[in-house]
Amino acid sequence: MDTQARIHEMKKVVLHLHLDGSLRPETVQEWLHEDGKDIDLDLVKAKLMVAKDCKDLNQYLEKFDLPLLFLQSEEHIKRATYELYEDLAKQNVVYSEVRFAPSLHLQKGLSYEQIVEAAIAGMDEAKEKYGIDGGLILCCMRGDNNEQANLDTIELAKKYLGKGVCAADLAGAEALFATKNFEEVFAKAKELGVPFTIHAGEADGPESIKSALQFGAQRIGHGVRCIEDKEVMQELKDKKVLLEICPTSNFQTQAVTGKTDGSYPIEKIFKFGIPVGLNTDNDTVSNTDIEQEYAWVLSETGLTTSNLIQMNLDSIKSAFTTPEKKLAIANQIVAEAKNIPNNTAPSKDVNSTHEDR
Ligand SMILES: [Zn+2]
Repeated sequence: MDTQARIHEMKKVVLHLHLDGSLRPETVQEWLHEDGKDIDLDLVKAKLMVAKDCKDLNQYLEKFDLPLLFLQSEEHIKRATYELYEDLAKQNVVYSEVRFAPSLHLQKGLSYEQIVEAAIAGMDEAKEKYGIDGGLILCCMRGDNNEQANLDTIELAKKYLGKGVCAADLAGAEALFATKNFEEVFAKAKELGVPFTIHAGEADGPESIKSALQFGAQRIGHGVRCIEDKEVMQELKDKKVLLEICPTSNFQTQAVTGKTDGSYPIEKIFKFGIPVGLNTDNDTVSNTDIEQEYAWVLSETGLTTSNLIQMNLDSIKSAFTTPEKKLAIANQIVAEAKNIPNNTAPSKDVNSTHEDR
């Protein structure tokens, strides 16, 4: 079996994926057409995908303007969520947590509840059709004057927790709005029992990860800049906090270097013993998909398919879902891995430690 086929067959878990950054260009073209604007597909793609000379995260975030313009109706939110889960299922993703910020979808009068319920409906329809599993993560946003919207988002996550929503997050311009300033939001999440991940250690350094850990984040979005601080690495390892790593997105936002020179820290972090999951961040904005990320890891790092399988097991172990679902998905991952010759299947015990690498 060639590498590409092997990657395709693997049962995959995706934990870090933004809905608004992963719209099908064809769908956006259709929505533009409905608005009376006939635009060439290549031009639509250029509007949605980051340019090769992207300077930083702030420039990367500009690519969300057009998607957000259209994600202001229940119909569009439902369709986008359905299509994303459909695309994931077709890449043998068996479990995925998809995230978005409800506060960015209020522009045309939708209520918070309408927004979340539309996304749940889209996800549920895809789950029904493809047998894929997952949940929605509601993002709080970095920015000025967002306090109330962020507290509302945590309340909303609490309202739908276990009913389609699985956690909360903090997204947005990390270099401009430090993680440490969002303590109140995550104190509220803790008080209400809403689990959360936080984007940290992407555009900002290890201090940002420290704050997220202090707040009680169970996972870290990106976190690659932990590599700059041994103590933070040790804390992540000791607490078994999974890093949701997204290589292509990191090269585009210039969070780190190492696309081709072997310096990207994923192998170092994994071999240090910190749990790692592999993700795309945004399929469309980053012009990638999960299979391309796997292929990049295999061709540009010393990591193997067995390591990728371990990452999927670590991901499901750190997923915001029930122990029963974790075990069921872990069993699927292991069962598929066992079918492959010359591939040592890792322990199927989802509670095992990382010491055995
Ligand atoms: Zn992200």
